[in-house]
Amino acid sequence: GRTLGILGGGQLAQMLALAALPLGVRCVVLEPDPQAPARLCAEHLQAPYTDPAGLERLAACDAVTLEFENVPVEALAALEGRVPVRPGGAVLARSRHRAREKEALRAAGVPTAPFVEVRGEDDLAGALEAVGGRGLLKTSELGYDGKGQRRVGSGAELRAAWAELGSVPGVLEGLVPFEREVSLAVARNAAGEVAFGPLVENVHRDGILRTSVWPAAVPAGTEAQARALAGAVAGAWGLEGLLTLEFFALPGGELLANEVAPRVHNSGHLTQDGGGVSQFGAQVRAVLGLGLTDWAPLHPTAMVNVVGTPGGREPDWAAVDALPGTRVHLYHKATRPGRKVGHVNLVAPDGDTLRDRLAQLEALIP
Ligand code: ATP
Ligand code: MG
Ligand code: MG
Repeated sequence: GRTLGILGGGQLAQMLALAALPLGVRCVVLEPDPQAPARLCAEHLQAPYTDPAGLERLAACDAVTLEFENVPVEALAALEGRVPVRPGGAVLARSRHRAREKEALRAAGVPTAPFVEVRGEDDLAGALEAVGGRGLLKTSELGYDGKGQRRVGSGAELRAAWAELGSVPGVLEGLVPFEREVSLAVARNAAGEVAFGPLVENVHRDGILRTSVWPAAVPAGTEAQARALAGAVAGAWGLEGLLTLEFFALPGGELLANEVAPRVHNSGHLTQDGGGVSQFGAQVRAVLGLGLTDWAPLHPTAMVNVVGTPGGREPDWAAVDALPGTRVHLYHKATRPGRKVGHVNLVAPDGDTLRDRLAQLEALIP
């Protein structure tokens, strides 16, 4: 059988490992956290990402992929040239740094929100006017789930936000008056063939993804536009493997790229239960060269994230189970406020039933 090495052992690695097994593939994860979700279903190398013995073990796999973008560059450097690393350092270098990412998106012909790179305090003067008077200051590195960003509407707020975020390099983005948010994943192999995931619609709450729905309620043509943009990024960045683009859909239908995740994405979790190939299966196939085909659910599908609440309130699990078409996915993580600890997928025979049951499901998950 084949083995797939994964840098990182969180829930994405856990779900990758679960999807790999029936494809005849076993996963090996390098992850220092002893409580990492993937420990339960993959060989767990509990060591730092730069651990020589751990990297040696990964180098002996058939391919290596990653489940988060902040793996140290030294780890990638130690592996590249010895084992296919997909995606590799060139994609990672762009996607782990917001300013570089936006520049690289634009260079690939993909529009983004207006932005100004803020390297130091001097760059704050005039920045807000340059992006339209209202915006979000985001750190260039390490932000996720809305952490590391502040909404600002005045010069004073911008200066306060800069200090609050630690006076570290970032970008000031103009506030986008989007109609909805959507995302789409693309896989590309060494031969340059591409395949696409479904166009998914996403709703965030407090900066954290709350629900995803497929199909997205977008005008005809939006999915083709998203595919063209994702394909352009995959080609221009020399992608081997899978990445996901988040988009803002403007009222006129135009898409602006928000950010790139060089991996499977929370919005793609609904592909686990929609009847088609899942994003996790797609990534395993793409990185091991098992043949590329588009993947999407076969039935209308949605997902609701389970996120720890300040009061520690649990979902009404019995009622969730009683709702037709639900599938619970738990990550075996300790619950903390704002932390994603699982998700519930929901599949329905038609769009109206899906919307109806999604509203019921949301009411059961605090
Ligand atoms: P994650 O990586 O978990 O998706 P993140 O911390 O990298 O999140 P972003 O994706 O940049 O954060 O932003 C989180 C959410 O905040 C977006 O999905 C969107 O709802 C809102 N948002 C971000 N940037 C803008 C913007 N320029 N205009 C309007 N809304 C925005
Ligand atoms: Mg992000
Ligand atoms: Mg995002």
